[in-house]
Amino acid sequence: MFDIGVNLTSSQFAKDRDEIVKRAQAAGVAGMLITGTNLHESQQAQQLAQRYSHCWSTAGVHPHDSSGWTAETAQSIRALAATPQVVAMGECGLDFNRNFSTPQEQEYAFNAQLALAAELNMPVFLHCRDAHERFLALLDPWLDRLPGAVLHCFTGSAQEATEYAQRGLYLGITGWVCDERRGQALREVVPLIPAERLLIETDAPYLLPRDLKPKPASRRNEPAWLAHILATVAGLRGEDPYWLGAVTDQNVKRLFGIDFLT
Ligand SMILES: [Zn+2]
Repeated sequence: MFDIGVNLTSSQFAKDRDEIVKRAQAAGVAGMLITGTNLHESQQAQQLAQRYSHCWSTAGVHPHDSSGWTAETAQSIRALAATPQVVAMGECGLDFNRNFSTPQEQEYAFNAQLALAAELNMPVFLHCRDAHERFLALLDPWLDRLPGAVLHCFTGSAQEATEYAQRGLYLGITGWVCDERRGQALREVVPLIPAERLLIETDAPYLLPRDLKPKPASRRNEPAWLAHILATVAGLRGEDPYWLGAVTDQNVKRLFGIDFLT
């Protein structure tokens, strides 16, 4: 199992980061991709990926942080991308739900990162919320120049899943799928995603699966819960979790061009 979305730079992990990584390994997580969401965190993510074995990182600027994107940011991201730990550009994309940066700023930073990924021949790690139409309009011109793309934390409709799958995008599924109430629509979509396009992630420390038993004392999510998400996804699809874990591991290796023991 490989967790493609861990916000290990989060201050929520400041006190026990080593323990979190150890617990994940003990729970069968063979590798992790540490998410970078702005320049500073991308630098931290790269350093953590250097420190922990079987960890890699992304470098990029999240839509929320897009207002800070400058030509200097692009230069610093380019430098990070040259290190062996950084295997994807992102997290980048559009989030019109909260608009912490204006839509114009988001579109500018997203486009700049797509161009940079194409230039460096790197896959992209994408975020999209309430922006499906504009997201595809910006992404489409770049797709045949990118070696791959994953839309992380996918919670869209069956129609959207089909549109992404047709374009060869990978879809990251989080513990959102474990919520029988709010996650109901996603639970119906998950069986429709082709296995060779599926990836799994915790998005820790966010999105603690709601159906863990017994309920953990803390609401903080951690990568050790990845097996629970994999089991839930496999159950919804009527597949064996070990088989699906092996398939998603192969997907990780293919998309990010990395190798790890499974
Ligand atoms: Zn995201």
